[in-house]
Amino acid sequence: MKSGVEPLVNDRFAGEATKRTLSYLQAQREKGKNIVGIYCGYAPLEVIRAMGAAPAVLCAFANKTIEAAEMVLPANLCPLIKSSYGFLKTDTCPFFAISEAVIGETTCDGKKKMFELIADLKPLHVMDLPQLPDQQEALENWTVMIKKLKGFLEKTFDTKIDDADVEKEIQATNEKNRLMNKIFEFAALTPSPVSWLEFYDLTYLGQAATTEDMLGILNDCVPKLEKRVSEGIYHGEVNSPRVLVTGCPVGGDATKVFKIIEEAGGVIVVLDSCTGMKPYASLIAENTLDPYRALSRRYLDLPCSCMTPNSRRLSELDRMIVTFKPDVVIDVVLHACHSYNIESHKIKEHVTSKYRMPFLKIETDYSQSDIGQIRTRVEALLEMVHKK
Ligand code: SF4
Ligand code: SF4
Repeated sequence: MKSGVEPLVNDRFAGEATKRTLSYLQAQREKGKNIVGIYCGYAPLEVIRAMGAAPAVLCAFANKTIEAAEMVLPANLCPLIKSSYGFLKTDTCPFFAISEAVIGETTCDGKKKMFELIADLKPLHVMDLPQLPDQQEALENWTVMIKKLKGFLEKTFDTKIDDADVEKEIQATNEKNRLMNKIFEFAALTPSPVSWLEFYDLTYLGQAATTEDMLGILNDCVPKLEKRVSEGIYHGEVNSPRVLVTGCPVGGDATKVFKIIEEAGGVIVVLDSCTGMKPYASLIAENTLDPYRALSRRYLDLPCSCMTPNSRRLSELDRMIVTFKPDVVIDVVLHACHSYNIESHKIKEHVTSKYRMPFLKIETDYSQSDIGQIRTRVEALLEMVHKK
């Protein structure tokens, strides 16, 4: 965002999503709240919150711990898994340090096998995620898994989780998602008055923070964005190419891709990943007979490439293309993430044949060694659509 523009969230952590979220969680811990570590967008946060605990995302995005991880893990593994494991191996993850239990899901093979290596560090509960989301059995089985998680949390923390509290948390998540989408609507304007770093900051904190704590922050952002619009303040240039970024979760050192896009003159208007807008895209059915089943439906609808078929990713892309009006789509695939890598072909076909829109797949990791090569490819892509 241009200098002199009032930041959306006015604290010392502007642009530092991880530090802000850690500080939030530490404050929750000091207040006596339990902290539960999570590794995936499929973790049913509402059950964790219903027992009064706060979730801490343990996925890591730093290159510095990868060398230590490779003493145990194969080098040709996804950097997200290596980085996360490396933090535990070097005992340097503050999020893991304050977590009293850890939840994992059977998403990709790398994560699943990594859970076995960390099983003795903290109480660990692995949920068996069905991967054919449209089958009736998937709904039933994931409902059972969510109820088992409830049992694990009750036993580990010697507490009781009431169905009424789970229902309350469902409604709170919906309220938060509606507000979050109000912020995203500003990114849909042309030109966009909000930067990727600003909505990344909000979406990152929003995973850990309760709706109650997010309400003030999000409600504050709306008038600031309205003021920017009325004063003609926008991000980038009025004719900057609009970019939709999809693919693997991206944070920390991998945000080099976002920075390159901006330096090449593009404006990112959508971040379609688990570290972006994806967790806020849909609502959970309220006041049903079984809140666990309602959660099961909503989480199974998350369009992750570990699902087959993952047709919701295409329908979500359609929705985002219509809403955010991008000029190009960039698919970011982390090295050795086979499911997102294979799925990239379908995304390319969809985007180029249905919308005739330029598409670029970037395969990368957390090192900085490919910056020059990525920059050349992004510049060439944006040159194709640059509006005079
Ligand atoms: S991309 Fe898939 S496996 Fe990774 S955090 Fe998101 S839902 Fe989980
Ligand atoms: S990016 Fe791909 S390989 Fe890495 S943890 Fe996520 S789903 Fe697994």
